[in-house]
Parts: sequence; structure tokens; C-alpha cells
Amino acid sequence: MNSQPDVVVVGGGHNGLVCAAYLAKGGRKVVVVEKRPLLGGAAVSEEIYPGFTYSSCSYVVSLLRPWIFRDLELARHGLQILPLDCTFTPHDEGAGIARWGDSAKTREEVSRFSLRDAENLPRFGNSMVALSRFVKGMIDGPAPDPGALSPSGLMDLARAGDKLRSLDPEDAERLAGMMTMSAADFLGEWFESEAILAPMSVSGIIGTFLGVRSPGTAYVLLHHYMGEVDGVHRAWGLAKGGMGSVSESIASAAREAGVEIRTSAGVEKILVENGRTKGVVLENGDEISASLVVSGVDPHRTFFGLVGEENVDSEYASGIRSFRMRGSSGKVNLALDGLPEFACRPGNGAHLRGDITIAPSFEYLETAYQDAKDGRWSKSPFLDIVIPSLTDPSVAPPGKHVMSCFVQYAPYALREGADAWPSQREAFGDAVVQVLERYMPGISSLILHRHVLTPWDLEKEYGLTEGNIFHGELGLDQLAFLRPVPGWARWKTPVKGLWMCASGTHPGGGVMGASGGLAAREILAEGAAL
Ligand SMILES: Cc1cc2nc3c(=O)[nH]c(=O)nc-3n(C[C@H](O)[C@H](O)[C@H](O)COP(=O)(O)OP(=O)(O)OC[C@H]3O[C@@H](n4cnc5c(N)ncnc54)[C@H](O)[C@@H]3O)c2cc1C
Repeated sequence: MNSQPDVVVVGGGHNGLVCAAYLAKGGRKVVVVEKRPLLGGAAVSEEIYPGFTYSSCSYVVSLLRPWIFRDLELARHGLQILPLDCTFTPHDEGAGIARWGDSAKTREEVSRFSLRDAENLPRFGNSMVALSRFVKGMIDGPAPDPGALSPSGLMDLARAGDKLRSLDPEDAERLAGMMTMSAADFLGEWFESEAILAPMSVSGIIGTFLGVRSPGTAYVLLHHYMGEVDGVHRAWGLAKGGMGSVSESIASAAREAGVEIRTSAGVEKILVENGRTKGVVLENGDEISASLVVSGVDPHRTFFGLVGEENVDSEYASGIRSFRMRGSSGKVNLALDGLPEFACRPGNGAHLRGDITIAPSFEYLETAYQDAKDGRWSKSPFLDIVIPSLTDPSVAPPGKHVMSCFVQYAPYALREGADAWPSQREAFGDAVVQVLERYMPGISSLILHRHVLTPWDLEKEYGLTEGNIFHGELGLDQLAFLRPVPGWARWKTPVKGLWMCASGTHPGGGVMGASGGLAAREILAEGAAL
């Protein structure tokens, strides 16, 4: 692009790329500037050790909005999602418990623990589908704001009211309860066996600084139930080639639409003059002028790092300051010399191909949370594991494997301070391997390489403030019309010409693309940068 662009998008995470693609399709000249040499942000594939491709941060796809998949023709741009069929939780005794795509098989497994729970599963599933359909409507458009008096705001509210009325009264009551209940209590209304309850409840805590018994986590659980793969509700999948394929396919669609993408091009400053943005200055000193800047980085980094607090309305700045980031998770990626086996379910069965959850009991999960509250990483953390090379052999050499372990709790703010993390990184990695060893004896001897990411690394390397994986907690007070600041949920900011499009905006975190796509729609609808 030789002439001046209309729009500069800061950050080539998947949301920045989605936003850029839609804006270019809408006739704008767009440049994306990404700090890292690789695109994708937290949706990235990295070959850190030759032959092994890690999905370094995010690892499963489910929430990616189907309309973005279609509009940007991501399949034509190379994206293939390989479904995962199972969630397996190992136990110290017995055979553990697996939940399968096949409901008859799941029923059989669950009945070993409770006949009543097995009978309740289909009713629970139907209710969650109805509730998540309702919420899904909210994540595919602007958040209805009860305080909005504009015609479009009132229309959004009216549409939400209609949807709520269409819910079965029991489900509507349940939805209201979910707003304040804990994941454990909500699930406890359906199930009695802890073998089912504990692994199911972890969807309520992923990425939050909350425990399964903390109020509000029932809603986070619902957020994770909204996914679909190929139209199958609640399905999760792996991106062939790793999560970077999601971002690369979006980047390819963006380039085709005319977007210029620059990597190793970190932004030092978003230029603001008299309350209006003028463009950006890169870390190498280059200046790019544009009448519109869209920030694809998190709200804290945008305003306190790039814009400068002196350029922001003080009320808005204090809203952003109190927007909670508080990272609570880390990641351990392993390159393995062969396949590990579970002591409780030996062999290389289909349970290894799914999502593996180390969440044996509420006590285990709550003890791990208590560690975080005390400013320590937990020695026995909740782990969410996948072995992508079993489903997608392209990510490891023949006979070898990659294993991705999402780890919680790992508080950003250690008692000794966040900067103590580098000296504790390897001990944290050792603790994760010890937990794996408890359930998969002998796995240590299979480890060829280990890549440990603490919340400090997520901040320093991937640009996630305080290592928060969602650019801000998914608490009820930080969602919908409150995200990131009440009254400013429609991607606009008080700085004229500056918009936001990443996970810190409605509808929030996860590899959804929704923030980027909806921000672009709003910018185009306003006729901005024409
Ligand atoms: C460990 C981990 C596990 C996760 N697991 C999952 C999962 O399995 N499934 C799921 O759906 N979600 C998961 N998530 C959440 C999901 O990955 C994120 O919510 C999502 O990828 C964020 O996308 P984004 O585009 O909004 O922001 P980001 O991906 O954070 O993109 C922001 C981009 O801006 C760049 N940047 C920062 N500063 C600058 C600057 N000054 N100049 C230029 N560029 C800059 C960054 O390098 C980055 O590329 C996980 C996240 C993490 C960290």
C-alpha cells in the first residue's frame, strides 16, 4: 500500500485480523501492524523445537462464530477444524470417567457413578442448548444496554426482551439464577456425583480468578457451552496445523480483501491531538497517519501503554483502571517421544483423543484456588490437556507427539511479586509434570522438550496484561454492556477516531472473532473513515 491508509489496526491477533478483513471488504484501506514476528496473538502455532508445532496458548476451537467462518470463507483460506469426541477425567482408583459425543456411551459411563445423574444428562443438555441459544443471540450483536436511550440501543433491548420471552419459563428462571450462582451450585441442582460435578464445573473457572464455588461462575460455564463445530452444539475441535491456522486463514482472507499486514512492527504510541487520533508511531520510529485507529490489544495496554492516560477522559480512564485483568493461568507444552498411558485406563484408546481434565474432586479444585488466593501457583493444579498429534499428525514427527496442558491456578501476582515468576518458572513446570506422572506413570521419561508459559510470560511475550487470557475477566460485572466500561460497549472510545476490537470488548474472550467482526460492522455502519 503506497498511499496513506484509512485505518491502522494495532495488533494482528485473530480479532484484529477479522476486523481488518471486514473493514477492507467495506471499502477501507487498512494496515495491520503486529509486534511479534508471527500473526495470531494468543491464537498461534509455533515450531519452538524442530518438527513439533505447539498451539502455544489457545488450543481448542469452538466459539469461532459461524458467520465469520462463512463471510471470510475460512475453509477456502485453509482452515479445517477436526472435532474432538470425548472429555476424559482420570481418577486415582477405578477407570476414571469419559463423556462422549455418543450419548448412550456417556450414559453408561455416568451410571457407574449415579443412575440419577445418567438420567438427568439429556434434560440438562437440552436446557443448556436453549440457554446458550439465547446467550448466543447476544454475542452475535451489540450488547443491549438498559441505560441506552438511542433508537438503536432501544431496538437492541427490545430484541433481547423478545428472546427472553421465547425461553421456557423454567429455563428463564434458570438463566436468572446463573447470573449469581456458582458453577458448583448450579450443576448441583442437576447432578449428585462429584465424579461428574467436578469436571463439569471447570468450564466455569477457565481463565478467571475464581473458584468453582464462587458466585458468578455459573454464567462463565454457559459462555463455554455456546460453542459449535460444524453445527454440532457444545462441540470442540482442533484446528489442523494448530491454532495459528485460524489466524493465518483470517489473515489470508484479509490480504485477499486488500489489507496490508506488517509483522515485527510494534506500535510505540497511538497519536492523539486535541482529543482525536492521527495515527500511530511504530517502535522503529516510523509514523503511519490515518483518520481511524482500531486497537486489537487489551484495554489496559491500549490506554495506559499506547494512548497515554493524559489523553483520555478521566472518568473513562478510571473505568479502564478498575477493569480486572488478574491472570490466573499458565500453559505447559510438551514434545513427547511416544504416547503416555493412564494408569486408570491403560492403552491408547479413544479417551486420549479428546479433552483430558485433571479435576478429580471439588476439594482438589478448591485447594488449587486457595493457593492462588494466597499468591502461590498450585502444586496440584487443575489441568486441561489435549494431545493434538493424535488427531492431526502434521504437528509432530512420526511416532512422536505434542501435549498441551492448560494450567490453573497460576496467579500473576505472586506473593513475592510478578517479577518472581522467571525464577519459579521451571519449578512450576515440574509441578505440572508431577501431576501428569501421578495419572500417567512414566510420562517424564517421554518428555523431549518442555515449553512453560507463566502469566508473566503471557504478558511479556504475547502482550496479555497480567497474563489474563481473555483481555479482562469474564465476570458478570465486566460483560455485555459493561465491557470494558459502562456506556462504552459499542467498540468506540472517548478518543475520536479510536476504536477497540479485541477480547476486552463485548462479547469477550476466546477465539470467537466476534469482537473484531462486530467492531468492524459498527465502524462501517457509522460510515467512519470515509
Ligand atoms: C494460555 C491460553 C489458553 C487459551 N485457550 C483457549 C482455547 O483453548 N480456546 C479459546 O477459544 N480461547 C482460548 N484462549 C483465549 C483466546 O486465545 C484469546 O481470548 C484470544 O486469542 C484473544 O484474541 P485477540 O485477537 O482478542 O487478542 P490477542 O490474541 O491477544 O492479540 C493481540 C495482538 O496484539 C499484539 N500486540 C500487543 N501489543 C502490541 C503493540 N504495541 N503493537 C502491535 N501489536 C501489539 C500481540 O502481539 C497480539 O498479536 C486462551 C488464551 C491463552 C493465553
